[in-house]
Amino acid sequence: MLIVMDHAASEDEIQRVVAAVEQMGLKAEPIPGGSRTAIGVLNNQGRVDDTLIRDLPGVRDIIHVSKPYKLVTRDFHPASTVVQVGDLSVGDGHPPVIMAGPCSVESEEQMLAAARAVKASGAHILRGGAFKPRTGPHSFQGLGKEGLVYLRAAGDAVGMPVITEVMRISQLDLVCRYTDILQIGARNMQNFDLLKEVGRLDVPVLLKRGMSATIEEFLAAAEYLLAEGNGRVILCERGIRTFERATRNTLDLSVVPIIRNLSHLPIIVDPSHATGQRPLVPVMGKAALVAGAHGLMIEVHPNPEKALCDGAQSLTPEGFDQLMNDIGRLMHYLNDEVSPAVNR
Ligand code: PEP
Ligand code: MN
Repeated sequence: MLIVMDHAASEDEIQRVVAAVEQMGLKAEPIPGGSRTAIGVLNNQGRVDDTLIRDLPGVRDIIHVSKPYKLVTRDFHPASTVVQVGDLSVGDGHPPVIMAGPCSVESEEQMLAAARAVKASGAHILRGGAFKPRTGPHSFQGLGKEGLVYLRAAGDAVGMPVITEVMRISQLDLVCRYTDILQIGARNMQNFDLLKEVGRLDVPVLLKRGMSATIEEFLAAAEYLLAEGNGRVILCERGIRTFERATRNTLDLSVVPIIRNLSHLPIIVDPSHATGQRPLVPVMGKAALVAGAHGLMIEVHPNPEKALCDGAQSLTPEGFDQLMNDIGRLMHYLNDEVSPAVNR
């Protein structure tokens, strides 16, 4: 529930409403706005009985929120969230953040070669999966702890923060020791126990959209993280399952402006898993930036033909370098010529 106060409401009137909400055993969070204050009501399990509140002085309107999320919305948090990953800022008002690297960590040499290449081209965060959620049990499952060691060493060698996926709660302690940002993958977007546990940590999280998740389910999953106290969340669109088989998934680009309007959280796009095809990755990555994405996640492999996972969608170091050059020119143009992709 959202209680909208009159623009002339006094501080005393706001505090009386807060006290009334707390007397009902709920949490009240005043949200100061440009012209008036709103008070968010949290911790309710169902519809709140507003009879004790609606007639209090200074109350202008009461909005019952029936959606399964609140904390992620701009109603509850009007200002855009900027997520810090080390020295990097991800979100509105900052250049797009580029996360790049191989799908999986395969060896010390492969990871270091990938790190050197993406760093030289200007990527900001190094990716590499050590625990891999593969469709079948006979595919390469990742190097586990050994992979985390190689990823961390490669990131340190070139001076880049690293991101890697965590698949279950029992891996969390270990993964957190090696990574700067946790990835929760598409298949785990609704692993609610994992979300709750990660929500209790003070570590940035990249939450990827489930392959058949609606925007409402996507935001409700992010809500789990915020509800436990972790607001350092970056969303990631990575394609959804449709009837179309010409691409691995269907990149849902309209989700970018929609989420930018609904939510204060930054959103990036992964055109690698969305398309599954190397030639489509650069153009869809650039399209995502035009749509207002705060960054990209791109799979890059020193030798995609030999990749143990997702070689067909991995850019070569040369292809990635070309993309980064294009992005530089595109951002110059977008900053100068194009109005923001969102209307607020
Ligand atoms: C990945 O990033 O390697 C990955 C498995 O992505 P997704 O969860 O989007 O399939
Ligand atoms: Mn992959």
